[in-house]
Amino acid sequence: MKEGIHPKYEQTVIKCACGATYETGSTKQKLNVEICSSCHPFFTGKQKLVDTGGRVDKFKKRFGITD
Ligand SMILES: [Zn+2]
Repeated sequence: MKEGIHPKYEQTVIKCACGATYETGSTKQKLNVEICSSCHPFFTGKQKLVDTGGRVDKFKKRFGITD
């Protein structure tokens, strides 16, 4: 096995447009998202929203976020 072939998998900070940050493991150095579980209307309840296509679940799975 040669070293340097596989991308590094290390802690990454995901930053949301609302200012919330999440730490997770990723091969990417930084991630920026426009919406997260803190500001998403589905969670805040400030707006009625139909979660079409399970976007929230996809987001959570993608970034390994669990409540
Ligand atoms: Zn947010």
